[in-house]
Amino acid sequence: MTEMVTNWAGNITYSAKELHRPHSLDALRALVADSAKVRVLGSGHSFNEIAEPGDGGVLLSLAALPPAVDVDTAARTVRVAGGVRYAELARRVHEHGLALHNMASLPHISVAGSVATGTHGSGVTNGSLASAVREVELVTADGSTVTIARGDARFDGAVTSLGALGVVTALTLDLEPDFEVGQHVFTELPLAGLDFEAVAASAYSVSLFTDWREPGFRHVWLKRRTDQPLPDFPWAAPATVAVHPVPGMPAQNCTEQFGVPGPWHERLPHFRAEFTPSSGAELQSEYLLPRPYALDALHALDAIRETVAPVLQICEVRTIAADAQWLSPAHGRDSVALHFTWVEDTETVLPVVRRVEEALEPFAPRPHWGKVFTVPPAALRDLYPRLGDFRALAGSLDPQGKFTNAFVREILDS
Ligand SMILES: Cc1cc2nc3c(=O)[nH]c(=O)nc-3n(C[C@H](O)[C@H](O)[C@H](O)COP(=O)(O)OP(=O)(O)OC[C@H]3O[C@@H](n4cnc5c(N)ncnc54)[C@H](O)[C@@H]3O)c2cc1C
Repeated sequence: MTEMVTNWAGNITYSAKELHRPHSLDALRALVADSAKVRVLGSGHSFNEIAEPGDGGVLLSLAALPPAVDVDTAARTVRVAGGVRYAELARRVHEHGLALHNMASLPHISVAGSVATGTHGSGVTNGSLASAVREVELVTADGSTVTIARGDARFDGAVTSLGALGVVTALTLDLEPDFEVGQHVFTELPLAGLDFEAVAASAYSVSLFTDWREPGFRHVWLKRRTDQPLPDFPWAAPATVAVHPVPGMPAQNCTEQFGVPGPWHERLPHFRAEFTPSSGAELQSEYLLPRPYALDALHALDAIRETVAPVLQICEVRTIAADAQWLSPAHGRDSVALHFTWVEDTETVLPVVRRVEEALEPFAPRPHWGKVFTVPPAALRDLYPRLGDFRALAGSLDPQGKFTNAFVREILDS
């Protein structure tokens, strides 16, 4: 059967002419053991060739495997199958009176694919989504299962792994007691005089949005936990109408605003599970830098806003607490993330991406693994002090490089 397999945005067509969808773990093991090259496609929300298996390689999806979500209320953990998306996971966790610590801007993405690329939400005390993972179950190159749990010397390489260690068939995540969130939007926050640290810490999760047509932020979205004090936000005025992050897009796609309290999973993402997220037609880039550089980096972007604005739909600024995963873009650094939703035209966007990377270069930016970037592999290698440990781990679990594609090889090669 020949089909055209593309990513969600449609800017990548994979070389594989078939997406294999095994219906059982045994069928998955056999497929992996019998194939020379394998990559998994999660929900396909990455914008680059990270999932590309290479010529003749097998691309597989776990979507036809049983979508297990097993909550252990006593231990406050959940074991989730490798193909499950956050929307389903969050719904099931909430039914048990429990919560995840954070979510990305949309719930449509797979859990395994998200933690593999270091996907994050926002909040100065919130680690990336991978920081909730306590155990990973992998089908490795010979078809056997390897389980790596927190405390294992290999664990810090095993979660944000770029899909290079094997097929993640299940993950166990930490949970916490259910909580409610009210989402408040403020408008027109100037860049001049911005106290970034105070703004970023003014709620459980904070996002600043700008289209760089003006030197400041159109919106600030505060996601306030209702079990925490409600501090003032003196720097901008409350929005009077519901908004979408991308100017001109319908606010009905977005999670409830105006501070109406609701369950964590219906407020922490910007987009509702039942709607198409974001504008659909787009490319994305994102860079994580040490948080103390936030203000200088924002001024560096402001200096090139006339280059950036014409191809930009929206820029979002978030924060992420440091974590220990060797390949996490937030590895060892409390981070600020500068995100760009571009127009969908690769040819006009790429030169601007390069210009942004030049402007951010003094701030040691680590690109999001799932988005568009042009940072050369040699520069990337310098940014990850534990890359050698990851290379050794990949070599021990997958000596023939069955799960190593061109994207991963460039990063690992010295
Ligand atoms: C509209 C939109 C909004 C976004 N918002 C955010 C955001 O708020 N924050 C953020 O940080 N990122 C965000 N992203 C980026 C997105 O979270 C990442 O690209 C993430 O990897 C998507 O998960 P996926 O399952 O679609 O991954 P895919 O693109 O399918 O795969 C990503 C990588 O994971 C590997 N992989 C997937 N499943 C498995 C498995 N079971 N076993 C082994 N390897 C596997 C793939 O091989 C590939 O290497 C957004 C993307 C879009 C399109």
